[in-house]
Amino acid sequence: MKWTVLGFQSPFPGADGATPGYLLEAKEKKILIDCGSGVLAQLAKRMPADALDAVILSHLHADHFSDIWVLQHALLIAQRNQKDFRSLPIWMPNQPRQWFQAIQAKPLVKVQVLREGRTIDLGEDLTITCYRTDHSIPCFAMKISDGKSTILYGADSGPDTRWEQMGVEHDLVILEATFLNENLPSHPTGHLSARQAGEIAEAMKAKSLLLTHFFPTYDYRQVVREAQERYSGNCMVARKGLTIEIGKRNG
Ligand SMILES: [Zn+2]
Repeated sequence: MKWTVLGFQSPFPGADGATPGYLLEAKEKKILIDCGSGVLAQLAKRMPADALDAVILSHLHADHFSDIWVLQHALLIAQRNQKDFRSLPIWMPNQPRQWFQAIQAKPLVKVQVLREGRTIDLGEDLTITCYRTDHSIPCFAMKISDGKSTILYGADSGPDTRWEQMGVEHDLVILEATFLNENLPSHPTGHLSARQAGEIAEAMKAKSLLLTHFFPTYDYRQVVREAQERYSGNCMVARKGLTIEIGKRNG
């Protein structure tokens, strides 16, 4: 499986940046996970949007789905030029209702609903199981398995997320590091600090950790340093275009 960072900044993109979006390539499938501001421009460096097999939106906050609207335009143009054009499956939570209904009403997409514990079966042993996270609106972490390796994408998640139900020893765990510890608000926000991400990865015995979803102004070295104070495994930080390949040695 290959995981490519298309966007990792939040809650808005920095210069030439993008808010969260990731390309998952596994078993010949190309799946866009989250579709934030600027993500389509990064995807276009690799493939046309109409070549995606599916889109999965962890939740309907603007930093994770704002490029869905222009993705619709790319599909409309593609449809005009392709006889065998097929609707694009988009998986997402059905709340907040106004965004869900607005996306569902668009042509050329086939909307399906993410639910707690639901497993999306993409064939050839490729599955994605959803777990509700501690966030201000319904948001889902995803455990991705190709039958040999597992990736856990934590999406947006506060510390009260039930991480224990998602298993341990994943090959790659991707966690948000919205705050540096010194900026962590005293009230719950449904987000993690880099230090908290490190603690969660350590408890999960993650083989590697990718930190993402942080302010464009943050110094990435400080983000990594904080997580490494609590996590003893292989710690990486998101950057535009970073590709992580999982399970290569095992074929
Ligand atoms: Zn977010």
